[in-house]
Amino acid sequence: MDTHGFKAEGVQWNLAELYTGPDDPRIEADLAEARRQAEAFAQKYRGKLADKQLDGAAFAQALKEYEALAEVEHRPSFYANLFFAGDTQNPKAQQLVQRTREAATETSNLLIFFSLELIALDDEHVAKLIVAPAMADYLHYVEALRRFKPHTLSEKEEQAINQKNLTGRHAFEQLYEELTGSLRFKLQVDGEEKELTDGEIMALLRRPERDLRERALSTFLETHAQHSLVITSVFNNIFLDHKVDCEMRQYDDVVLPTHLSNEIAPQTVEAMMQAVERHYPLAQEYFRIKARLLGLDKLKNTDVYAPIDATEEKLTFTQAQELILSAFGRFSEPFAAIARDFFNKRWIDAEVRTGKRGGAFCAAFTPQHHPYVLCSFNGTGRDVSTIAHELGHGIHYSLSRKQRLVNYDAPLVLAETASVFAEIVLTKHLLAETRSKEAKRALLCELLEEMYGTVFRQTALTRFEMAGHQQRRAGQLTTDDICDLWLQEQRKVFGDGIELIPAYRWGWTYISHFIHSRFYCYSYSFGELLTLALFQRYLDEGDAFVPGYMQLLESGGSQRPEHALAKLGIDINQPEFWDRGFRVIEGFLGDLRETL
Ligand SMILES: [Zn+2]
Repeated sequence: MDTHGFKAEGVQWNLAELYTGPDDPRIEADLAEARRQAEAFAQKYRGKLADKQLDGAAFAQALKEYEALAEVEHRPSFYANLFFAGDTQNPKAQQLVQRTREAATETSNLLIFFSLELIALDDEHVAKLIVAPAMADYLHYVEALRRFKPHTLSEKEEQAINQKNLTGRHAFEQLYEELTGSLRFKLQVDGEEKELTDGEIMALLRRPERDLRERALSTFLETHAQHSLVITSVFNNIFLDHKVDCEMRQYDDVVLPTHLSNEIAPQTVEAMMQAVERHYPLAQEYFRIKARLLGLDKLKNTDVYAPIDATEEKLTFTQAQELILSAFGRFSEPFAAIARDFFNKRWIDAEVRTGKRGGAFCAAFTPQHHPYVLCSFNGTGRDVSTIAHELGHGIHYSLSRKQRLVNYDAPLVLAETASVFAEIVLTKHLLAETRSKEAKRALLCELLEEMYGTVFRQTALTRFEMAGHQQRRAGQLTTDDICDLWLQEQRKVFGDGIELIPAYRWGWTYISHFIHSRFYCYSYSFGELLTLALFQRYLDEGDAFVPGYMQLLESGGSQRPEHALAKLGIDINQPEFWDRGFRVIEGFLGDLRETL
């Protein structure tokens, strides 16, 4: 086997399985074919569901045709997005993304009638349709769509809202994106005056120099604060828009649309968040240990991600691959076998290249085709964890290829069930293989910081967002109001043990989830805590746990999360269930204390 180096040289994915390149004539042919099929579908079925002219078998047939055309429709834009991610500065890639996006919008507009007709049907008629044997695979799909029935308006109203959103909510989102995307941050780094992007300046929070970390976050936030007039206005309008939307759609509470699309009961989410808040002292305990490791009396919030082991040994990509595969193999051979395919069949793009998109992701579009992973490997331990995480997603997608297209994607709250699990499996393996106390300590800190950022921080973010929406009902918020709400929630998670730097009052200004999707952040806490609880089950039960877990992954999006989990004997409506997840965190904290 080739030995790939410290920057994964040559580890590129093979997209030629999709199209030979951005000029492949099959792209335009597929776009035209998708359009033709969508038109034919509309011609054949428009009004038929509404007029009750389809029986169960004919309805199932229509859904099959719908899936078949979605396959053709998604392929070009899927390719375009991957191609662009690998080469963002290529004008052809940019054009292709735009071209396929516009084509997909047109095609999906032709098809909107179908789900609206399905939602509009009365319950009695739907009950008759779904008893047909051919409908067995579509029950969850139908149920999931129809949950929105009480909150869906007429086709005319929905279209009007969509159109007005272009100059309403979407305009504010766009303004926010363009404004924050245009910001550059001036900072003295290593004796040089630099102008940094957001990614570059935030990376400095992991540098060993304390003063540099604080200056970096202060500059980052204060630069946002210079635009507080615009950002405050964006927040106010997004809050107000959501309030109006909820009133028109008859939601009693602003969080309900999110819970409904996550298929989770409001009291389950509340129980989860309260469990996290009860365990805020665990996060604070970690901060105290971290202060000790850094030799500080009191931690500042800019010290949370400070490195404790500045002399990390780099790994080659081949070493990373071997580590991951043996860690996964220790958990389950089939788990490792799927991951091996990503390496051997070129489903992963890991090399560091200019123009490549930052960050990492795993993407899939249909059960007919395997998923892909993208990351930029620089040889650090964190990079190895990132690959394990994304491969976890890849394994999840691969296992749910047993499902049909409409049941392929796991629900959001189950979306991290394999990725976070894979990361913990890797860390456990590394801890077992490592003899040096310092290396163990670094591994544990990295893992615990990830858990802090996902479980604890995201709950605090959600509480802030809830408070913002709540307060907006009474009237416009001033910038100071928003800063106060932010600090109030942040102080709860940090406790008295941490000093918040003055600029931290602006911490809310850069979190784009608040702008783009309401209450999205709690799904991070939910998903991670759920996975930790599953991991605790694995610790308790050993190999006996594995088959049920694999079945959970195979179920994709074919069931509501609580039903899929009930098969493992898990009841997410029991508040005690969540405590299991914290036992994993307590376990790792204990391991960390032993290295002191
Ligand atoms: Zn993930």
